Amino acid sequence: MTDASRTIRPDDTTPEIEATLQKKLAALPLEKKVALLTGGDFWGTLPLAEIGLQRMVLSDGPAGVRGASWDERDPSLNLPSGTALAATWDVELAHQYGETLAGEAQRKGVDVVLGPTINLHRSPRGGRHFEAFSEDPLLSGEIAIAYTRGLQGQGIAAVPKHYVGNDSEDERFHVDVLIDEKTLRELYLAPFEAVVTRGNAWGVMSAYNRVNGVTMSESPLLEDPLATEWGFDGLVISDWTAVRTTVESARSRQDLAMPGPTGPWGEKLVAAVRAGQVAESDVDEKVLRILRLAWRVGALDGASAPVRASIQTHDPVAFARSAAAAGMVLLKNEPAELPWAVAPSRIAVVGEAAAHPRTQGGGSAFVVADHVVTPLDGLRSALPSTEIDHRPGVAVIRGLVPFSLDDLVNPVTGAPGVRVRFIDADGADVLVEDRRSAHLVWTGGVPETAVTLEVTTSFRPAGSGVVELGVETIGSVEVFVGGDRLIDGRLSSLDDAMGTGLLAPPRLSENVTVTHGHDVQLRVVNDLASRGHLSNAASISFGLVASDTDDDARIAEAAEAAAAADVAVVMVGTTNRDESEGRDRISLSLPGRQDELVAAVAAANPRTIVVVNAGSPVLMPWRSDVAAILLTWFPGQEFGDALADVLTGAQEPGGRLPSTWPAEEADVPVLSTTPTAGELAYDEGIHIGYRAWARAEAVPAYPFGFGLSYATIDLVSTTVVGHIDDSPGSVQAVLRNRGERAGKEVVQVYLSRENSAVERPRIWLAGFVAAHLDAGEELSVRIDLPGEAFRHWDAGWKTEPGAFTVHVGTSIEQQTAVGTIEIAERVSSLAGRD
Ligand code: BGC
Repeated sequence: MTDASRTIRPDDTTPEIEATLQKKLAALPLEKKVALLTGGDFWGTLPLAEIGLQRMVLSDGPAGVRGASWDERDPSLNLPSGTALAATWDVELAHQYGETLAGEAQRKGVDVVLGPTINLHRSPRGGRHFEAFSEDPLLSGEIAIAYTRGLQGQGIAAVPKHYVGNDSEDERFHVDVLIDEKTLRELYLAPFEAVVTRGNAWGVMSAYNRVNGVTMSESPLLEDPLATEWGFDGLVISDWTAVRTTVESARSRQDLAMPGPTGPWGEKLVAAVRAGQVAESDVDEKVLRILRLAWRVGALDGASAPVRASIQTHDPVAFARSAAAAGMVLLKNEPAELPWAVAPSRIAVVGEAAAHPRTQGGGSAFVVADHVVTPLDGLRSALPSTEIDHRPGVAVIRGLVPFSLDDLVNPVTGAPGVRVRFIDADGADVLVEDRRSAHLVWTGGVPETAVTLEVTTSFRPAGSGVVELGVETIGSVEVFVGGDRLIDGRLSSLDDAMGTGLLAPPRLSENVTVTHGHDVQLRVVNDLASRGHLSNAASISFGLVASDTDDDARIAEAAEAAAAADVAVVMVGTTNRDESEGRDRISLSLPGRQDELVAAVAAANPRTIVVVNAGSPVLMPWRSDVAAILLTWFPGQEFGDALADVLTGAQEPGGRLPSTWPAEEADVPVLSTTPTAGELAYDEGIHIGYRAWARAEAVPAYPFGFGLSYATIDLVSTTVVGHIDDSPGSVQAVLRNRGERAGKEVVQVYLSRENSAVERPRIWLAGFVAAHLDAGEELSVRIDLPGEAFRHWDAGWKTEPGAFTVHVGTSIEQQTAVGTIEIAERVSSLAGRD
C-alpha cells in the first residue's frame, strides 16, 4: 500500500498539554461544563473566555467549505464530489484535496470540516452515493486517510461521517439498520477504523439512524470499538439534531450535540447529573475532548497548539480543474475516438448539462460556487476555431427552477436580486438583506425575534402566457402576485432530519398569466413559527416549475445538428435533485428521455461521444452504439475546462470506477434501500459491490476498478514477495509506458482464498497504487499489502493460516493470479490477538 504520510503535524497531545486541559476543566462549575456540550449556535461551539476557549466553527464539507453561512455573497471553491475523488485512486491527490480544503477553511474562518463522507456504496440507489467514496472499505479508507491528513496537517479538523450504517437515505432519521457483527467490522466500520487509527481523525460524526436497535448518538459502538479498541481521543459530533434524548445520549460516548444553542442536553442534563442519572465524570470526559479539539485547531489560549505553517501550495482553481480530470473515467473509446488529435471543425454539443452542468450533488454537501465553467465555456475556449453548435436536447431538470438573477430586480435597490426582510411581531424589520438569488438558505442566523420572513422582487417574464409559479419551503407560506394572493398553504418536511426540511423542502405552485415586457411584482411570505423545530434556520426557493417541452422536436433537432457536425458530444446525467440528501433514487435510468436522445444522435453521427454527468451509476442502454463514453461524475466548478482538457488530450482521463456500474437494474445484487417496518436488514452480509457481483456470477456493464487510458502502459511483470517489514507480503510490479504520451495506470491487487474455513468474499481488494509514467518510462512500484487485508472477524480479528492467492491487474475483471502469500500459524495467531 502506498502511504501518503508526509511529515505532518505533531498532533498528539503531551502530558503537559493534557494537564493544562485538566486544569481548565477543573475551573468550571457543572452548568458551564454542560453548556459546552451543545453548540453555541448553528455552526459554532460555545466559547468560554474564562478558560480561553474560543468558538470553533464547523462547516460542511465534504467537497468544499461552505463556511458559517449559505450565501452567494460569500462563495466557496466547489471541488469534485466524493465519487470523483475516489475514482482517482490517487492518495497523493486526495492529500492535496485535503490541503486545498484546509486553505478554504482558513480563508473562511472554519476550524472543523464535516467530512469526508465514508459510508459505503451499498446500493447504487443511495441518495448520497455521490458524496461517499466507494463500495470497497479499503479504497474508501485509504482515500479518507489521505484527505484527513491533508486537512489536519494544516490544523483543520476532519470529521469522517456518518458513524455508522448511514449508507442510504430513506427514513434515515429513524431507520434501524440491522448489520451482523462480522459485516459491521469487515465492511462498514473498516473505513472508520482506518481513518481513526491511521489517519488520526480529530472528530467523528455520529449518524441519525439506529444500528441493531440503538440510535447511533447513543450507541455502544461509540465506545467500542471507536474509543476503546481504536483509541479515538477526538470528539464525537452529532449529525445535526441527531441527539434526541438527555440521559441515554449523555451516558454514551456522544460528546457534542449540534446544532445549538438549544437541544436536549443543557439544563436537563445538569438536572440529570444532579439526580445521579448521568455521572459527572462522563460530562468531564466530554468537555476534555472538546478542549483537546480546541487545542488541536488552535482555539485554546494558554495551550499553544503546534505551529502549522500554511503550506497551501496549490492554486485552488487549478487544483479543482486537474482533480476533476484525474477522476474522469473513460469507459469506452472506439476506435480511438479520443483524444482529438486534430480539433474537429464542427461539434454538435447536445444536452442541457452543456449549459447547466451539475457540478455537485444536493443537500448539505452543496456549496455556493463563485463561478462555474460550463462545458460549452470550456470547449469554446479550448477550441477557438471550432464551430460549436449547442442543442439543449430533452428536458432533464424537472420541478422548480429558481429564478435566475438576470430575471429579478430588487424593488428597493433596483439592482438584480431580491429584498429579504425578517420582521418581528410589531411589524418592524429585525434583519434586512439584499440578496442575489431566488434560492435562499439560512443555516441558523434567523433573528430570534423574527416571526415573518418576507422576500420581494420583481420578475421579468421571458415570454407571454401561462406559467406555473412555485415556492419551496416549510410551514405556512403565501405568495402575492401584484398584490393578489396566488398561493396560501402549509408545507411539511419529508422527514424529521433538519437537513431534509431545509434543503429538500416540498413545493406549492399555481398557474399565473404573464406578459412579456410587463414585470411581475412578487411577495413571498413565510410564517417562521410554523416551521417548527427549524425555527432558527430557514430556506425558501421560488421560481417557475419546468414546463413540458416538445422533446420529439428537440430530439429531431439534436440529431440534425449531429448529422451536420464532424463529432457529436451528448451530455446526459442526473440532477442534484435526483442525487441528494434525505431520499434515495427510485431508478437508475437517466431521467427524462435522455436515452432516446443519445440513440437518435448516435444514429445520426457515428462519432458520438457521451459525457455522463452523474455522481452515481446510471444505466446506459445505448452503450454499444456510441464511439466513446466519458464519465465525469459531479466534477466541481471547473467542469468545462477539465472536460475540454480530457477531450483534447491535454489531460489523461485519470479515473477508474470506485463502484460497479450495472447494465440492468435487475442485475444489481444489492439494490433496495427501502426499510420494511422501519428496519433495513443488510441480509447480504459482507457481499456488497463487486463482491456481490462475483458471488452472483453476474456481469456488470463496467466492473469495479475499470477505466481506459490514453497512454499505452503495460504491466510487464509482477513479483509477489512474502513478509516485508510489517506487511504479510507485497507485490512488486513493473510497468512500461510504450506510447508517446505520459499517462497513468492504477495497479490493483486483490486476494482470494480457496477452500477457506471462513465466509469470505470470493475476491477482495488488498492494495493499489496510482502510477504516473512519462512516455517510454519503465517504472517499478511496490504495493505493500496490509495485515488487515488478510484478516476476518470471528468474535475478534483472526487470520487464517495458509495460502492466499494474489491477483494483480487493472480492474476486478482484468486481473490474473500471480502467486500466493502464505500466512504462517504463528503470524496468524499474532494477528488474531484482540
Ligand atoms: C447531514 C450532515 C451534515 C449536517 C450539517 C445533516 O443533514 O446529514 O452530513 O454535516 O447536516 O449540515
